[in-house]
Amino acid sequence: MTKKYDVVIIGGGPAGIFTALELVEQTNMSIMLIEKGKDIDRRKCPIRDNGGACKSCLVCNMVCGLGGAGAFSDGKLTLSGEVGGWLPDYLGNAETKSLIKYVDNIYLKFGASNKLYGVGEEVEELERRSSLVELRLIPVPIRHLGTERCQSVLKTMRDHLKSRINIKLKTAAAKVMVNEGKVSGIETEDGDYYECQYLVLAPGREGSEWLSNQAKRLNLTMHNNPVDVGIRVEVPSAVLESITNVLYEVKLEYLSRNFNDRIRTFCMCPGGEVIMESTGGAEPVVSVNGHSYAEKHTGYTNFALLVSTSFTKPFHEPIAYGKYIARLANILSGGILVQRWGDLIEGRRSTPHSIARGMLQPTLKSAIPGDLSFVLPYRHLTGIIDMIQTMDKLVPGVASRHSLLYGVEVKFYSSRLQLNNRLETEIRNLFAIGDGAGVSRGLIQASASGIVAARAILRSHG
Ligand SMILES: Cc1cc2nc3c(=O)[nH]c(=O)nc-3n(C[C@H](O)[C@H](O)[C@H](O)COP(=O)(O)OP(=O)(O)OC[C@H]3O[C@@H](n4cnc5c(N)ncnc54)[C@H](O)[C@@H]3O)c2cc1C
Repeated sequence: MTKKYDVVIIGGGPAGIFTALELVEQTNMSIMLIEKGKDIDRRKCPIRDNGGACKSCLVCNMVCGLGGAGAFSDGKLTLSGEVGGWLPDYLGNAETKSLIKYVDNIYLKFGASNKLYGVGEEVEELERRSSLVELRLIPVPIRHLGTERCQSVLKTMRDHLKSRINIKLKTAAAKVMVNEGKVSGIETEDGDYYECQYLVLAPGREGSEWLSNQAKRLNLTMHNNPVDVGIRVEVPSAVLESITNVLYEVKLEYLSRNFNDRIRTFCMCPGGEVIMESTGGAEPVVSVNGHSYAEKHTGYTNFALLVSTSFTKPFHEPIAYGKYIARLANILSGGILVQRWGDLIEGRRSTPHSIARGMLQPTLKSAIPGDLSFVLPYRHLTGIIDMIQTMDKLVPGVASRHSLLYGVEVKFYSSRLQLNNRLETEIRNLFAIGDGAGVSRGLIQASASGIVAARAILRSHG
């Protein structure tokens, strides 16, 4: 079956959705969005509510489907070009800043809350206190939606788009077609072919491997992003309240003593819970993540500690490297490992008994007590220990023996396509945006990249 569209968008996450939103606002071009997952209301994880080991569904409902990985995300809109991606590398700081404002206004229009964290004098005081213990605090204005509001905002966007574009669900894009240096269409896994003038690839982290494979097939230039591997830490909310009440999401950076690696806090979830995510596919890997609701509070706060490492040539498989480490935790536990800080630091594994006796009970019920030192490379483990001890000087209690550490958290935003400042690849009219293309690693910059592609298409189309 062949059909003809002006624009085809692959991926129904924030990047794809914002491309469509901008296009329908400015033009009546024919547009189709292809998404391999289900509609947002139909996305259910079999173990999310009831616990148990990850069933490794072929298409993971947690990260695939209309709304993308963002649908179940914590909905923290980080309004800064300094975090959440690499857009400033393509657009410069000033343009990124104005795009972020533009995107924020769209989120507000579709129902995001007005409250902003991370602004004011208290932030400066926290920056000062952090610097005294060798931590760099990156102040970032944040709008927090919470998982429920994030979903309702995305549903409103979907409803806005539904009558204006063709949304094709449960369909995976397979092969990008090119004719004489210009994109000509997309073939799906079902064998259908859609002809188009412009193709926007926004497959997210989950689809980054597919995108890399397409790039290799089409001889496109790829660059490596750093590999981010680490753990998720869970503590009582009270431990971090002095900073989360001011900043909500606290972005702290540290340079490890042993290797001078950059280690950072990521995705802080006050009152939230730890969850797992699967890469899906034929050989799924399960890793850890976190989220929090706007209204429901667990009494715990969790955050990731990620170690960024760049490798020397000829290394060119950062995704495989990250998966390999996450897979080690899967081999040892069947999914996610959890260990008490006290056990890790004293060189023993945690057991169901030691966890049950501890002051904190894991919010991720399916996590299996074990020993993270069997999983993480020395370089990563020593860096993480170093950072937790340093953070404890800023917020005492992070290094309590009861604190829980979950592994492994990996970020697969690894390979970066060669793109121009319109986020167009070396093939004419083929755009690559969002987390999957290595352009972003957060809702705001993913959404902003969608606007960039849409505007480029509008300009070309005249
Ligand atoms: C648990 C969790 C919490 C998060 N919390 C936050 C947060 O609080 N703040 C923040 O800024 N960011 C957060 N993030 C990150 C954020 O969700 C992503 O940065 C954002 O969703 C990226 O948008 P995207 O459109 O590039 O990709 P995605 O949202 O991943 O969407 C890509 C879509 O493409 C589809 N797809 C993939 N391959 C194909 C294919 N071959 N054919 C068709 N469709 C395909 C996928 O099914 C998916 O739906 C979180 C992520 C997770 C997983």
